[in-house]
Amino acid sequence: CGIVGYIGKQAAIPILVNGLKKLEYRGYDSAGVAVLDPEGIMVTKSVGKLVALEEELGTDYSQSSIGIGHTRWATHGRPSYLNAHPHCDCGQNFVVVHNGIIENYLELKDGLLEKGHHFVSETDTEVLAHLVEDYYEGDLEDAVRKVLKTIHGSYAMVVLSRKDPDKLVAARKDSPMVVGLGDGEFFVASDITAILNYTRQVYILDDGEMVVITDDGIKVTDFEGNPHTKEIYDVKWDA
Ligand code: GLU
Repeated sequence: CGIVGYIGKQAAIPILVNGLKKLEYRGYDSAGVAVLDPEGIMVTKSVGKLVALEEELGTDYSQSSIGIGHTRWATHGRPSYLNAHPHCDCGQNFVVVHNGIIENYLELKDGLLEKGHHFVSETDTEVLAHLVEDYYEGDLEDAVRKVLKTIHGSYAMVVLSRKDPDKLVAARKDSPMVVGLGDGEFFVASDITAILNYTRQVYILDDGEMVVITDDGIKVTDFEGNPHTKEIYDVKWDA
């Protein structure tokens, strides 16, 4: 339902939670964040309101400056802790947040189960993390591109990996997604309002676009990898 991602120099968690709060009006049944720590991917999730997630995070949260967050409106799998996003692969190397529906997830899940993947949720989203794991051969962008060719449905998604720790890879089809440009920091969100506290310069992604965000910049391409030139949209209105 709602997506926020951050890469920069500040602690990601407060920015992610703040962004998710701006998306509360859309409704949700659970929420979660994932950041990259030296020990690996740290996921914190909670059923119910964002205050419950904040309680779970406490005051002694990770100071990691890269992370993704999500508020879920369940479509596949009941509202529950295990079904809340973000979702990881088996090896805990990749973590994903997703809005929308992966229509062929059952077929994909069957194939992954046959290959020995173990699933912890009932969601369609979890196949994305396992597919990235399955396709990964040293390049996160390539792996995500292969996933995009495999899935059918509607999605805005962001992928984070400990194998490629300074990068967010996002893509959209039939579900909105924007990238916010800050000073040495970047944001990704399903709605501009989530990041307006931090920047007013955004790229509005089109369907079929994929974006690779690092500390140094942003690369927008189509799903084949052909570069797209984007115009910066200067947000003049207030939320
Ligand atoms: N289909 C996904 C799920 O049920 C995403 C739902 C959403 O957009 O929040 O977990």
